[in-house]
Amino acid sequence: MSFHDLGLEPELVRAVSDKGYDLPTPIQQKAIPAVLAGRDVLAGAQTGTGKTAGFVLPLLQKLGKSEGRQPRVLVLTPTRELAAQVAQSARDYGAHKNLRTQVIFGGVGEQPQINGLRSGCDILVATPGRLLDLANRRFADLSKVEHFVLDEADRMLDMGFIHDIRRVMQMLPPVRQNLLFSATYNDDIRTLATRLLRDPVHIEVTPRNSTVARVEQHAFRVPKDHKRHLLVHLFQQGAADEGPWGQALVFTRTKHGANRLAQQLETAGIRSAAIHGNKSQAARVKALADFKAGKVTALVATEVASRGLDIKELPQVVNYELPNVPEDYVHRIGRTARAGATGRAVSLVAPDEAGLLKDIERTMRQNVPFRDTPHFAIVQHAPDAGGERQRQQRPQHPASGQQAKRPAQAGQGRKPARPAGGRGGSWSGKPRQRAGGYRSGRM
Ligand code: AMP
Repeated sequence: MSFHDLGLEPELVRAVSDKGYDLPTPIQQKAIPAVLAGRDVLAGAQTGTGKTAGFVLPLLQKLGKSEGRQPRVLVLTPTRELAAQVAQSARDYGAHKNLRTQVIFGGVGEQPQINGLRSGCDILVATPGRLLDLANRRFADLSKVEHFVLDEADRMLDMGFIHDIRRVMQMLPPVRQNLLFSATYNDDIRTLATRLLRDPVHIEVTPRNSTVARVEQHAFRVPKDHKRHLLVHLFQQGAADEGPWGQALVFTRTKHGANRLAQQLETAGIRSAAIHGNKSQAARVKALADFKAGKVTALVATEVASRGLDIKELPQVVNYELPNVPEDYVHRIGRTARAGATGRAVSLVAPDEAGLLKDIERTMRQNVPFRDTPHFAIVQHAPDAGGERQRQQRPQHPASGQQAKRPAQAGQGRKPARPAGGRGGSWSGKPRQRAGGYRSGRM
C-alpha cells in the first residue's frame, strides 16, 4: 500500500517521497485514512513508529489552504524537543503546501513566539504551560481550532500536565476532531480518552505493554570490567541452577564494543558473531543466518542493527550495556517474546548504569528485579608458544577484584557511587597484572 493509496493528495505524496519514505508505516496505514475521514483516534504508538506523519499528513490535507490568523490545528506535546520536532515535520511534510506552522514552548524568550502568533498560523504546536500563559494574555486565540492532537499523552500525565490539558481543552470550540497518541495505557489515560474522544477509532501498532509483560526480566549487578566474564559464565553454566544458556541476542552500545565482545566470547569458546551498521549487508545476512541455524550461540548487536531483526523463538536478550534511551530497552526486549511467545531479558548493570535502569523502570512502570550475581571466574587468556593459553583464577569476587572466599554478589553492599575503574580499583575488580600473563583489554 502506497501513500497515494491511503488517499493523500499529490503535494503530500511528493513531500514524503522527498523525505525518502517509500511505504507508509503500520500506524500511518491505519491513522491516515481515519483522520482523513474526520474520525477521533485513540492510538497506542511509541516514538519511532512514524506516528508524527500519521497525524500531520492527513491534517495538512484537511486544512486545505492557509486561512485566517488563528490556528485550526493545535498539537500539544510534553516537551519542547518534541514540539520542535513535530513543528519541523509539519513544515517538511507541508513543503509543497502553503500552510503556516508556529511552535511555542517555555524556557526561551516569548517575544518571537508572540510575533509569530500575531503574524498568524494554521498549525500551532505547543507545550501546555507557555500556551496557557500566552492564551491567558490573549496572544494565542484557540477559538478556531478544528483539530486537536495530544501527543505522548502518557508522558504529559507523568509530567503533571493534566490540569493544564483540561484548561486548554476549555478554550477550544466544543465541536472538533480529537486525536490522542500514547505509548502506554493506564487508568488515567483511559479517563482522559473518555473525556476527550467521541467514538474513536482504536489503533494499536506495538502491543508494547503486553510484550513487556510477557518478558521475564531481571538484572545482575556487576562492575563494567567483569561483565564479559559474567557473560561467559552465564553462557557456560547459567545463573543459579538453570544450566547453560542456549542462544542469546546480546546488545552493546557501540559497533566497536560489539566487535570486541564477539571476539572475547569466541576466545572463551562461545560461538559468536557481531551485527552492526559497519558490517556489509552480506556479513549481516550471514551472521543472522548462522544464528538462526544454531551455528552461532551469541549474536552481538548494536541498537540500530536490532531494528527489523525478527528472530523466531529467540529465548533471551542480554543488555550487556543499558541503552541511554529507555524506549530502546523496550524495543530490545521486544526481540524476544515475539508472536505471543515468552522470553527472558537479562541486564548486566554496572554501578554507573543505575540511573539508566531507574529511567527504564519509570518508562515501563515496572521494576526490573536484581538477582544475586552468580559466582563466576575471571579467566585470562594469555599468549604462549602455541597461541592463546587460558589461565583460570580462583572464582573472583566481582566487586572487589579479590579472590572470593564466598559466592560473589557483585556490587552488593557497596555504594554504587564510584564508577568502575575508580580510585583503588575496588569497583573495577580488574585482575592484578601478572608478569607475562594478562593482556589488558583483552580476554
Ligand atoms: P516518529 O515515530 O513520528 O517519531 O518517527 C520516527 C522516524 O521515522 C522519523 O525519523 C521519521 O522521519 C521516520 N519516518 C516516518 N514515516 C516513515 C516512513 N513511512 N518510512 C520511513 N521512515 C519514516
